[in-house]
Amino acid sequence: MLMRLVFRAIRRGGTVLCAIGVLGAAGHVRAQEGAPPSTALSAHAPMAVPPAADVIRHHGALSIRSRIAARDLVRVPGNPPMLHSQGAGAEAGVYHRMLQDGVAWFRAVLGHDSEILLAVLDAADYPWPVPYPTPFAEWASGLIVMPRHLDSHPGFDRWGLEAVPLNAALALHEAGHIIAEQTGRRPALRWLDELVANAFMAAFLQARHPELAAILAGVPPAFDDAGRLRRLLEFEALYFDMGQENYAWFQFHIARLAGYAVARVPLPELLDGIAAAFATHPQTEPDWTDIPGQIARLESVIPGIGEQIGALADVALPEVTPGPCPDSLVPPAGAELAILENRDPAAVLRYHRHGIVALALMIDALGQPGRALDPTEAEIRAAVADGTHAPEVLAPGAAAVIRWGDLLYLEDGRCLVASDAPSARLVWTAP
Ligand SMILES: [Zn+2]
Repeated sequence: MLMRLVFRAIRRGGTVLCAIGVLGAAGHVRAQEGAPPSTALSAHAPMAVPPAADVIRHHGALSIRSRIAARDLVRVPGNPPMLHSQGAGAEAGVYHRMLQDGVAWFRAVLGHDSEILLAVLDAADYPWPVPYPTPFAEWASGLIVMPRHLDSHPGFDRWGLEAVPLNAALALHEAGHIIAEQTGRRPALRWLDELVANAFMAAFLQARHPELAAILAGVPPAFDDAGRLRRLLEFEALYFDMGQENYAWFQFHIARLAGYAVARVPLPELLDGIAAAFATHPQTEPDWTDIPGQIARLESVIPGIGEQIGALADVALPEVTPGPCPDSLVPPAGAELAILENRDPAAVLRYHRHGIVALALMIDALGQPGRALDPTEAEIRAAVADGTHAPEVLAPGAAAVIRWGDLLYLEDGRCLVASDAPSARLVWTAP
């Protein structure tokens, strides 16, 4: 159904793209109510809709590892072993060597024997739906997927880093996700999950590869403009949905923080301290939006980290409160993210999203030959008013993340309208 919709959407240009974006956002809301979702994947870049994590959930046993195993790849023994695309042997050998050295070092430092498989793939073998060249870990199966080349990553030309050593180092980051998971120390919070993965990489680089220190030096100056969203709260809310370049901007910052951390706290103590102070998978943090509280807890594990986090700690998003409904939706060009907060202590918030209702009407029309696919504004409003579409609900005190640029029709008759800020808090209390 999704693929059919996609084909129709491509034919219909902007309408289809809008529909696909809305689908992704809808999944995000469900996943994020109350707490951030657990992801089966850790990625260095945004993924096309549907997110790969959802693909794994929906297809059960059909993991990316099982799909890769069916391909015609070169198999190389080792600890961990490796698969690589035909013709990618030279680059794969470099990444494999670094990963084997790193895993042996992690085993010596942590006393844990991990189950890992490395796959180094060129673009033709890259597993849908992860976009090439996005390194990622499928932690449930112990699989690390590295691209053959990293230099086609958006923004790479502004990093000032050598592609092959950087990619080799990132394999250690992905190994960190898997080992943290396999030892029960993988944080539920996304930004801490990335900090822990980067701590594995940073600890090994500081011990064995000081010549690669630039990877831990923070955001390359020429790349700073990629930080359109610049708050950990925004990273926690959107993760790789924020776009590849902005996501990479955060990873440079988090790698810098990890370098600071492991220079002061030995890796085993760091992992144990974070696991003791925060929820680990499959648990969730009770309040994922409380970035200041999280930083205060992290300070007890890594003294001085709060000062290093600096402006990333800001949580003062512009606030939008309910008002009269506009005559039509004019999506603001700059809006990317909204955190919808039900601040009422007792009342449930019920609302309809303009984009979701429009999509539902479009899907209805697909089965009716001759009917126009694009619903009019009047049809959308009628569908909201007549009660045939169930509202989305948000419990008292809960928060949800939505990709923004939309309009919320509230059951109390008011509307929440997007501002042009990149991110905002949409704040509701019962009238
Ligand atoms: Zn990661």
